[in-house]
Amino acid sequence: MTQTRVTKRQNLFINGEWKEAEEYTPLYSPYNGEILAEIPKASIQEADEAIDAAVAAQTAMKKLAAHERSEILSNLVQLLEENAEKAAEIIAKEAAKPLTTARGEVARTIQTYKFAAQEANHIYGETLPLDAAPGGEKRLAYTKHEPLGVIGAITPFNFPMNLVAHKVGPAIATGNTIVLKPASQTPLSSYFLAELLEKAGLPAGALNVITGSGRVVGDRIVTDDRVSMITFTGSPEVGKEIRSKAGLKRTTLELGSNAAVIVDEDVDLDRIIGRCVQGAFGFQGQVCISLQRVYVHEKLYDAFVEKFVAKTKELVTGDPLDEKTDVSALISEGDVDRVLAWVKEAEENGAEVKTGGKRDGNVVLPTVLTNVPADAKVSCQEVFGPTVMINSVKSVDDAIAEVNNSRYGLQAGIYTNNIHKAMNASDELEVGGVMINDIPTFRVDHMPYGGVKESGTGREGIKYAVEEMTELKLVVVNHNI
Ligand code: NAP
Repeated sequence: MTQTRVTKRQNLFINGEWKEAEEYTPLYSPYNGEILAEIPKASIQEADEAIDAAVAAQTAMKKLAAHERSEILSNLVQLLEENAEKAAEIIAKEAAKPLTTARGEVARTIQTYKFAAQEANHIYGETLPLDAAPGGEKRLAYTKHEPLGVIGAITPFNFPMNLVAHKVGPAIATGNTIVLKPASQTPLSSYFLAELLEKAGLPAGALNVITGSGRVVGDRIVTDDRVSMITFTGSPEVGKEIRSKAGLKRTTLELGSNAAVIVDEDVDLDRIIGRCVQGAFGFQGQVCISLQRVYVHEKLYDAFVEKFVAKTKELVTGDPLDEKTDVSALISEGDVDRVLAWVKEAEENGAEVKTGGKRDGNVVLPTVLTNVPADAKVSCQEVFGPTVMINSVKSVDDAIAEVNNSRYGLQAGIYTNNIHKAMNASDELEVGGVMINDIPTFRVDHMPYGGVKESGTGREGIKYAVEEMTELKLVVVNHNI
């Protein structure tokens, strides 16, 4: 007997209901092209319905006390812990994220919601000494944080659960409602989140998930006047477009980078090589703070390159669902072609390919380049693929200048045993975060995180996102009368 495979059809999540869409599109595995599900391609009208629901749900969200919002988030944490393996499999399949890395993302997602559950109970204002100004005598002044209203959250494919958590977690903690538009390649994890939040007790309409083209559905969310804030994580190109269309809405933009690390002359290489290789190739380099550029002091350069290349060659490439896989497919075939073309361009301009530079299906083999000119795309643009360039520098000061010679400024790292050089680097590096004796790829989920230059505006990390997602209100009590 022949068996027909039934593809799962996912519906939209609007106003607490799973709603059939007018149109669906197949979702393919980036690794092997298998159809994973049928995904709704929301229309403008369906996007409007999601926004209507979020507007209406503001009343219910405003009624929730801080401890009730915290409890919903704690319930979500518990449900995620119970369903961690399922969540990891969803990410591994839709994003081709190696299963072990996907498990790591789920563990971090749980952390993020734990921080959000705590933060819901700690949203403080302050009292102000108004009598510091003549005329301010006998007036009590205090501030409080009020929810903005409807938050439009637009998210990328590379951390489909944790980057959504960085928006949904603080939005719930602060009593806002949300319209979430996840990346078209990774919608299943967001719908799974909606399922769990429904069980966790979130009021209907407080979270709405819609999928479809960013240019259509995303644009509708960005331009609707009823949405008070856009929190966007994605590419600088889309970020700039959103900023230009968002009008007076508050916008947080978490964008790309070509993150770099500096290696000083006094460093014990054996203690850092493994970490650097991990930072360069984790999730195929599709990480906004992936280690893309390495500037090594000339005294250690040859040894660094030799050890780095040897360690890179140990990486296992292949199926994301195989426990042994370190590096799997890029998110699309177009990205495979783009990354290899950029490697070729660097080679034509004098760079040397030490390993990789080839594909195996949709997997780009981990690629190490040396002597890369600063204007080669693999240096000055965001590669978002498994390539890293290693250049020699004469001094830490020269390295700082190279790092700063960039449109981007998300995070940077410096390995050194010299406290003066470390402190100087922390002053001089033009980035949102400086990691001393670590790679730029370091992140835990409560630290302030965000960039300067074309890496974006605003900060995430729950406490900081809470500030972005609330309006400060001042109350002055006059007791002169
Ligand atoms: P992307 O192409 O910019 O897409 C991000 C999101 O924006 C997707 O949901 C996309 O929808 C949507 N979108 C596309 N065009 C839009 C428009 N005109 N209006 C509104 N929304 C629109 O980014 P990606 O390829 O998914 O992710 C990779 C990028 O994200 C990299 O640049 C990376 O550095 C950055 N990133 C930054 C951080 C950070 O925290 N700084 C973290 C992770 C990733 P569709 O999928 O339907 O096109």
